[in-house]
Formats: sequence, structure tokens, C-alpha cells
Amino acid sequence: MTDAGGERPIATILVTGGAGFIGSAFVRHLLATTTLTVVNVDKLTYAGNLQSLTGVLDNPRHHFARVDVCDEAALDRLFAQYAPDAVAHLAAESHVDRSIDGPGEFVNTNIVGTYALLSAARRYWQQRRAEDAAFVFHHISTDEVFGSLPSPGRFTEASPYRPNSPYSASKAAADHLVRAWHKTYGLPVVMTNCSNNYGPYQSPEKLIPLMIISGLSGERLPVYGDGTNVRDWLYVQDHVEALWEVIRRGASGETYNVGGGEELRNIDVVHAICALLDELRPRRRPHAELIEFIADRPGHDRRYAIDATKIECDLGWRPRENFASALRKTVAWYLANEDWWRAVMDGSYRGERPGIERGGE
Ligand code: NAD
Repeated sequence: MTDAGGERPIATILVTGGAGFIGSAFVRHLLATTTLTVVNVDKLTYAGNLQSLTGVLDNPRHHFARVDVCDEAALDRLFAQYAPDAVAHLAAESHVDRSIDGPGEFVNTNIVGTYALLSAARRYWQQRRAEDAAFVFHHISTDEVFGSLPSPGRFTEASPYRPNSPYSASKAAADHLVRAWHKTYGLPVVMTNCSNNYGPYQSPEKLIPLMIISGLSGERLPVYGDGTNVRDWLYVQDHVEALWEVIRRGASGETYNVGGGEELRNIDVVHAICALLDELRPRRRPHAELIEFIADRPGHDRRYAIDATKIECDLGWRPRENFASALRKTVAWYLANEDWWRAVMDGSYRGERPGIERGGE
């Protein structure tokens, strides 16, 4: 345990979901800015991609294991082999639209998988406690667990849980399991609930990459409903810096809300992307002409907004980026990395990499 402000001694961290959008940014950040050894545990679903880890796969401080977080025996082996001082649990099914079509996988990975990881972590921590060694389990969650906000108002750590989609309900269930493992068994945990992220390596099916890629291809830009749903946007690099602060210095048992403080309507985000594309990849007609309003997503939450006062006051974290400059960086990244998103989209790349596939591990 640490009181907020103290620092945990961490030499090795086990990151789940480290081949996904936020997880890969976190792994890159840790390897670039710390001397940590990173054990990257990922099943490599459609959302996981080793090409998102280009540049770190050969780092001797990075160990990749293709493992399903529901596989407790494989997790036990990883804990025994690497003896991590911390776990950052990001692995999840993360796309709301997919959760509407197929909720089962969300229940499995997000709830059963979190249970399996907590169980393995608890067994490991119980042995480790005898040696008085530090350990912390960081659960990474979303602001969507709080449901839809009336305007005005922002989500605090005390906001009631009111999830509305199968995705947010499965994340809410996982949050409750983590809390219970702390309260009941004493497992040292920290939790974060974050707003919408954007940045490099985000799956082409999420709003911002989808609009950039469709706009580049001259295809329609489908916007749900009337486009006035509001989200609080955070650049992924700011998020991973927050995650590291919470793991190092967050008080055990505490939850921290993480947000960019950049509330925007979806339609305004899409117009901002169109304006950047007009500037960086002009076509004969403005990209905004491609916008098309489509039937709304069932259960679509109207508004999310985060009050990040706690993490700012307790841990001194604040986002460095603002939406305009970070969106420009993001659009520029997708323009410069067409190979990455084309491979993801045409399914030609499934994460295979001879030499590092170690079955069962
Ligand atoms: P992502 O979909 O890009 O990546 C998820 C990763 O988890 C993939 O690499 C996938 O292969 C892996 N995975 C899925 N099922 C697995 C399983 N059973 N076992 C092991 N690995 C598995 O997701 P993301 O956007 O990077 O989100 C990461 C985490 O952050 C999630 O827990 C999500 O709920 C949370 N979060 C995301 C956002 C956001 O805006 N993207 C905001 C707040 C919180």
C-alpha cells in the first residue's frame, strides 16, 4: 500500500491488452520513459495488433505472451515466471457497437476475464505478502459506467453507476469485482475511469479514425442521430501518463476519474476532422459534404463529462494536450501510417509473428 504521494517500488509490470490502442501506447510509454520490465499479455483479438508495438517488440525489457485473460492457469504461470510488482489491466472488448451485436464476448472477457485475473493476482499476492513485497492491481475502466449525464454536471468518483450498453454494463461489473477483491480480500488495487480517448493506433472502427479514413477514401461519414451527443475527449498519451501516475502513487482502494476537459459534440468533432482533411489532403469538394446522419445507436448516451479534480489535486496530473493540436497530430498520423490501418482493415494482419508466439504462455 502507499498513501497518495508515496511511491511504489516497481521494477516489473504485467500489462493486459498491451497490443490494443491504449495498452500499446502505455507499453511504449513505459519502455521509453522508465527502466521497467513489461510483460505484455494479450489474446490478439481483432483489436490487438503487434504492428502497434513496432519498435518495442525487440526491446529486451518487453516480453509478449499471447494469453487469454480468462485462462487462469496461464496467468498463474506468468505471475510465477515474471513476479510482477504491478498489474495494469486494460484487456477488454471495447467497442459499444459490437457489444450490441454480440454481448457474450463482452461478458466473457470483461467480467469473467477480470475475475480470472483477480483470482490469479490474489493467489500470487498472498504468497508475495509473506515477503512483504509491494504489489498493486490497476483496473482501467471507462466513464461510460456512469451512464448518461444531464447537462450541466460532470462525473465524479462518487457518481452512481448507471451503465446503459452491454459494454458499459460489463465494465461496471468488472469495476465492482475489483472493488470487492479489495474490500473482501485486501488485494491492493487502484482504479481509473477515463473519458473517450483518441490518437495513433486506434482501431479504424472507432469514431475519429473511422471519420479520417472514410474521409480520405471519399466515402460517406456516418454520424449517429443528430450528432449532438457530447463526449469528453482525451489524447491517449495524456491517458497513459495518468495511468502511470496512479500506479506509482495512487492510494490503494481509490478510484480516480481521468478526463480531457474537452467536451465536444460528435458533429463538431467530425467537422474538425473535415477541416483538417481539407487542409492536409484537399479534394475537389469539402469533406464535410460527405457527412450523413444515420439512425441512432440504441441506448446511445447523450453526454459524458469528467470531473478530474481528484487526480489533479492528489497526484498532480493534468492533460498536456488540447483537442485542436492533438487532433491535428492524430490526423497527420493516420495520413502517414496508411499501411498500418489498411492491414488492420483488410484483415491481412492477425498479429502472427514467428518466434514470439509462445502457446499457453
Ligand atoms: P482495444 O479494443 O483497442 O484493445 C483491447 C486489447 O485487449 C486488444 O489488444 C485485444 O487483443 C485485447 N484483448 C481482448 N480480449 C482479450 C482477452 N480475452 N484476453 C487478453 N487480451 C484480450 O481497447 P482500448 O481502446 O485500448 O481500451 C483499453 C482499455 O481501456 C479497455 O479496458 C477499455 O474499457 C478502457 N477504456 C477505453 C477508452 C477508449 O476511449 N478507448 C476510454 C476509457 C477506458
